[in-house]
Amino acid sequence: MFGQMMNTPLLISSLLVHAEKAHSRGEIVSRNPEGGIHRYTYADAARRARKLANALSTLGVQPQDRVATLAWNTHRHYELYYAVSGSGAILHTLNPRLFPEQIVYILNHAENSVLFVDAQFLPLIEKLKDQLPLLRHIVVMTPADKLPASSLPLISYEALLDAADDQYQWPEFDENTAATLCYTSGTTGHPKGVLYSHRSTVIHAMAAMAKDALGIGNASALLPVVPMFHVNAWGVPYAATAAGAKLVLPGAGMDGASLYELIDAESVDLLLGVPTVWQGLLQYCDKEDLMLEPVCDVVIGGSAAPISMIKAFHEKHDAFVIHAWGMTELSPIGTVNCRTQAMLEMEDDERFRLQAKQGRPVFGVDIRIVDDQGNAKPHDGVAFGRLQVKGPWIASGYYKQEGGKEWQDGWFDTGDVATIDEQGYMAIVDRAKDVIKSGGEWISSIDVENIAVGHPAVAECAVVGVPHPKWDERPLLLVVTRPDATLTKEEMLAFLDGKIAKWWMPDDVLFVDSLPHTPTGKLLKRQLRDEYQGVYQ
Ligand code: ADP
Repeated sequence: MFGQMMNTPLLISSLLVHAEKAHSRGEIVSRNPEGGIHRYTYADAARRARKLANALSTLGVQPQDRVATLAWNTHRHYELYYAVSGSGAILHTLNPRLFPEQIVYILNHAENSVLFVDAQFLPLIEKLKDQLPLLRHIVVMTPADKLPASSLPLISYEALLDAADDQYQWPEFDENTAATLCYTSGTTGHPKGVLYSHRSTVIHAMAAMAKDALGIGNASALLPVVPMFHVNAWGVPYAATAAGAKLVLPGAGMDGASLYELIDAESVDLLLGVPTVWQGLLQYCDKEDLMLEPVCDVVIGGSAAPISMIKAFHEKHDAFVIHAWGMTELSPIGTVNCRTQAMLEMEDDERFRLQAKQGRPVFGVDIRIVDDQGNAKPHDGVAFGRLQVKGPWIASGYYKQEGGKEWQDGWFDTGDVATIDEQGYMAIVDRAKDVIKSGGEWISSIDVENIAVGHPAVAECAVVGVPHPKWDERPLLLVVTRPDATLTKEEMLAFLDGKIAKWWMPDDVLFVDSLPHTPTGKLLKRQLRDEYQGVYQ
């Protein structure tokens, strides 16, 4: 016997329809790439998204066509999120930081015929256009009078909207229909596409809103600095819409000064982004002697949040760090380290240590750790193994790719190595490929980095395993110092002494001007391993 409940499909358009009805005055504030701040309501956004849906059909976009975007976090990008998926096409967000060859590969692999692009990225497309035979229309996300001169035929986003009707009925279809497409940056081989469905996106948004997940409510004013081209900005544009929260979009202004200005002017109380962005903001606040008054919570994910950062937000800004872990294949939320009753009773240092863990799975995600043969390992906080996950917003394969070694027995193998303790807290030890194997034992490069970056003279650092004649591999620490700071190898090692096991101590410390990153801002350790492979020989 089935239950007798309505089988209403979970569609992305329903989030915006809801916001228009229930949160019509909720605000969306956006820093325009062409200058100035744009401010409007969910009702305005819904009207413009309907116009855009009509405009897409005049451009010849059919259901399930992939429509690409190459854009910052702005209100126009937000409109595309709803108009493209809502009309039944597939929103394909592209990361402008990818190598040009990867952009060509991805646009051709996804067979995009329409591209929406911020003016700043147009020169890149002009350079690549000859290699993009399928691309028919390029829409620049500007008013008509700001359309740049170009060798390519361009359409102005605002002109397109001006010409469109605002009456549009969002179509109803199967909730399992594909809605958005995002490629992982792929440090080896070609980038791989993750194809989200309407259902997975809506369920993920509802989970993300929960108090013990990202905690997005109607009274929230949130600033997703995580880009809308990276895993749908962690699903925030959907969750904020369902809640009717004030959504503040930073445009191209990711530097400390621009972020501070927006946080202060818009009374932002919830920040979301990767550690490197917060490093910039914290440094700016230190330099200018400023406090992030309105901020209550900072969600940090994408890379490990070091204890020094968790502490700085607490001590200098009275803000609580919610450490989260996820990945493109997980839409992206997997685990979240939320506030707990027990934390209230902890001394600061004990709580900081707990907050440095990546947290517990949110309801909907199941996690486990296994050895190389796939046998489950105990959740005792000590045993570590390959982290595997399953759940309704986790990819079951890659776009246009058969099978995949990442999927076994219904679990997705994340490629991360982790521990899980008795209470369910997961802590990332390392990426499986980055873990350092020294004399048959493992060293967590992340743990050493997180401690080293706590030294006041260190701006950024990386620890990599380098071949060693006796121990297989030994750690090498690469440090970028802060401007005007001085640091010696001896001082760095003395700082680590007593904080990590003796045999984890890097054999050498090298000072470098900068470190290489992936297009999603993670350390490119493979390149470092190649570059420094001879240092211990
Ligand atoms: P890409 O694969 O394109 O670099 P993802 O965002 O999908 O981008 O990367 C996911 C990976 O990022 C995870 O598998 C994990 O290694 C790392 N990661 C994400 N969040 C954290 C975190 N809080 N702490 C440590 N590592 C993290």
